[in-house]
Amino acid sequence: MSLVIRIATISLLCLILGLAALGQTSARLQTSDTELALEAGPIGPRLISLTVPGQPRWENRASEGLIASAFVSDKETTLQWTFDRDASQISDQQVAFVYESSSPRLRLTWEWRTRQAYGPIEHQIRIKNLDSQEIWIPMQDSLVFNWQVDPGTPLEHFFVEKGANTPSPVGTHQVALAQGYHWTGTSSTYGDLNESDPREIIPWSLVQRKDAARTGWYAGIEFSGRTRISLTREKDSLQGAMGLNPDLSPFRTRLMPGEVFETPVVFLGGFRGGADGAGNGLRRWVRDVLGNPETWKNPDYPLVVNNSWGLGMEINEDLALRMIRDSAELGVDMFHVDAGWFRSVGDWYPNLQKFPHGLAVIADDAHKHGLKFGLWVDWTQAGLSTEPGALNARDPKVHDWMVTDLPADWKPEPFKGQTIDLGVPEAKLWAQKEVERIVTDYHLDMLEHDGYLVAHGCDRTDHPHAAPDPLNKCIYKSWGSYWVDSSNSTDVSYHAVRAYYDIYSKLRQDHPGLLFEMCNDGGRMVDFGSAAHGDYFSITDTYDPLSNRRAFYDTSHVLPSAMLESYVEKWPTPRIENFRYMLRSGMMGWLTIMTDTNAWSAEQHAEAKREIDLYKKELRPLIRDANLYHISVRPDGVHWDGIEYWDAARRHGVIYAFRGTTETEKTHAFTLEGLQTSVRYLVKFHDHSSPDRTVTGRELMTGALKVTLPFPNSSELIFLEESAH
Ligand SMILES: [Zn+2]
Repeated sequence: MSLVIRIATISLLCLILGLAALGQTSARLQTSDTELALEAGPIGPRLISLTVPGQPRWENRASEGLIASAFVSDKETTLQWTFDRDASQISDQQVAFVYESSSPRLRLTWEWRTRQAYGPIEHQIRIKNLDSQEIWIPMQDSLVFNWQVDPGTPLEHFFVEKGANTPSPVGTHQVALAQGYHWTGTSSTYGDLNESDPREIIPWSLVQRKDAARTGWYAGIEFSGRTRISLTREKDSLQGAMGLNPDLSPFRTRLMPGEVFETPVVFLGGFRGGADGAGNGLRRWVRDVLGNPETWKNPDYPLVVNNSWGLGMEINEDLALRMIRDSAELGVDMFHVDAGWFRSVGDWYPNLQKFPHGLAVIADDAHKHGLKFGLWVDWTQAGLSTEPGALNARDPKVHDWMVTDLPADWKPEPFKGQTIDLGVPEAKLWAQKEVERIVTDYHLDMLEHDGYLVAHGCDRTDHPHAAPDPLNKCIYKSWGSYWVDSSNSTDVSYHAVRAYYDIYSKLRQDHPGLLFEMCNDGGRMVDFGSAAHGDYFSITDTYDPLSNRRAFYDTSHVLPSAMLESYVEKWPTPRIENFRYMLRSGMMGWLTIMTDTNAWSAEQHAEAKREIDLYKKELRPLIRDANLYHISVRPDGVHWDGIEYWDAARRHGVIYAFRGTTETEKTHAFTLEGLQTSVRYLVKFHDHSSPDRTVTGRELMTGALKVTLPFPNSSELIFLEESAH
């Protein structure tokens, strides 16, 4: 074949392929776990199916529910969506189908993308105002689906609660997804404010077939605002929706000319091997895709922290310097000053009665002792201080940032004030400058935010979000702050959360290596949007050993253990075994000690030092990198519970075993997971509660790991390694 003819043949082939691409209205995306078939219909796109390789397909019958109308100058217009083939894009990693409306002029992009060769696939819908006037749009869900399922197929639904306030007695839910099942789970930043409220979920759900392979799909939402996931099973259909929370309705949001509305990103993934199989993929994906590479590069992440809240609001310079000395002696990585250091709420300057030389000298002293320095700040809260630089709720310049007019007798609490609406551009700008000043002036390595960071509804009509419904709103007070419930609550949270993300993205960009702790009155902000903007979560607001283990058990189903912080507080420990149990209950993820370590006995002090050393050398590498298995039912404080880490690459693992208050069960048999049946493993009991021995994987995975502990409220760490013989 001559060169000329070969070139002509190649050109013809390119032309044919090019035409095929132009005419293409279907596409596929895949990772090693998840295959999606996608289709662009003439008036709307559709996820056709989800497949876990080698397993029966999940066929979807629902087209994506694109918004059907929009409002221009208060007049409702029905939208006619038409597929724009030329503007659409298909590649191996991304599919973006574009739809246009001519009146009013809107462009909708329906996008799916793979971020890794494994794990779930992300999805987002963006709606851009191409018109010259303001347009209001109704609720656009992130994803709706209607899987065709055989009415006889047994399915299970798996979801987990946030550890907000106190972990509930259930926390991890594994329930039959039977005919007539109807469920909605919600997430926001202020769950469980009232005990009568339903528990909030981490915005994620898993559905599995109840068979030997335990395969299925899971989906989550990468957003911290008001969101919900719903599931309904009827006849041959499993329907669901996920995205912003449409309650209270009607939701609407404003689009200025050129502005884009973005649905919260959702991810959808397939899995095998039940909830732990899904979790081991998802946790790694969260780390690789949402996590901060700068943070994970540090081999000392997750850090061991000593937090000043053990002394409460009484913290001062002398006590801080003393804590720093003791932290260094204990081998801690970071000294963390909690609430109590500032002049008053909203006035984020050191209280000079307590810190006569300011805070930077404390940070410098921590650095001199080889420690990082972290600080608690409730930076979206206004108070009543009239000092220069303070955020004073009565200041006419900032008065409008409050979500409602505060009554004349309003006063902040000692460390909680009135949340401002970060969705207001001036408020966002102020907050951006304020956190930048705090980080720089006080020489921070870590910034912890707390309080209710995101406004709970808003009564204002001149903010970027929708106005409240005057006939259907409720204003109330809780935790020293005013709150508003109305049809605009979801839109308020949409704007405020995006402002928070912008602030932290900029801060992260300007201060590489700066760590962010996400606390929102304990574990109220545990979601995948926060995971993409911060480094670790305070997972509950109750810090006894059982609450710490429960919150960890729940949260570790979906988020990397390194990101899950347990605060270890003072707890009765008559025996040294109880003391180790207390510490280890907070040592499965990020460990923060929140008790006065100077009050420990010499024996406890020495024990803590050994445990911290063990954590840093042996446990931390597993917490960062190993697979995790929930090898017991959820902790109840009475019976035994345990967590297994197994790092197949390093052929090394550990089992955390906890005996509750039980007087009768002195020995417990654990069934391990993730091992190889024919391999022999060396089993080493760290506290020598039993002699070390070599056991086959088959035995370990059929209940042969027996642990005996003579005392209630005690623990053992059992290390595991592949045996050479
Ligand atoms: Zn507002």
